[in-house]
Amino acid sequence: MTSISNTFKYQFAPYKRGSKITCPKCHKKGHWTRYIDVTTGEYLPDEFGICDSTKCGHFNPPKDVETVDYNNIVIPDKSKEPFNTIPKDIFLLSFKDVGKDNFTQWLLKNFPKQNVEKAIKNYKIGTAKKFGGKSTVFWQIDKYGKVRSGKIMKYSKKTGKRIKEPITCIDWVHTSFKDYNLRQCFFGEHLLKKYPNREVIIVESEKSAVILAIVFGYDKLFLSCGQLRGLAEDKFKVLRGRKVTLIPDKGEEFELVWKNYQRSLQKQGFDVSLYSISQYTELEDGDDVADLILKSI
Ligand SMILES: [Zn+2]
Repeated sequence: MTSISNTFKYQFAPYKRGSKITCPKCHKKGHWTRYIDVTTGEYLPDEFGICDSTKCGHFNPPKDVETVDYNNIVIPDKSKEPFNTIPKDIFLLSFKDVGKDNFTQWLLKNFPKQNVEKAIKNYKIGTAKKFGGKSTVFWQIDKYGKVRSGKIMKYSKKTGKRIKEPITCIDWVHTSFKDYNLRQCFFGEHLLKKYPNREVIIVESEKSAVILAIVFGYDKLFLSCGQLRGLAEDKFKVLRGRKVTLIPDKGEEFELVWKNYQRSLQKQGFDVSLYSISQYTELEDGDDVADLILKSI
């Protein structure tokens, strides 16, 4: 059990199927992440939460967060519970058609071949048959080489953007296993071993981590936490002793969530700073630092 005196009583509810509901502002289905009270495990009223639609980003945190006495609250420490890993044959199968996924094809059209190939190899990006084929698998491989899961997404070969019509093409490799105990790690975490001295930059999206690695990968290591609320302390443990910079997506609300993480991680002794991209007027809310590169190609 861990004391949560340094964390918040109300936290975003962990994602599971159906946990995201309709956003009260933009009314998009499945985009609204609610809060839970970690002391009871109950959801707070639906009005409190955050919308992950980049066009909306509506954020309404519960107001009395700071006034709660955290001292006697405990939450279960899940970091010591066993977790499952993806069988090697399934992992290896994703490299049968390596480089043929739409995302890689789009990268090859826009960036130097040598850099793209190095990034694909480094991050071990696979290809999946899901969503009619040519989908991309972003494997989450931990620093011990264990494959936690893979996020499958399909991109447009033409624009490099995620395909969201008629359905949002996103799934996870582990969902085909029954009772799979998922413990996520950073996308790119396995590279910590390869680059023991590099400064670590964390962005939200896997795609952006790869683009940044293609352009700036000669002396920095780019990781993706995969989601707005993906910076929990147990995931961060592997970064102890490293210089880490968080670069949240543009937008006051996205930045606020990551500032809260930063504050909490600093209290735990992590060397973590935050770089705001709010001064880049060419970016819209919901854009990220890789969009700066994309706007110039
Ligand atoms: Zn919304």
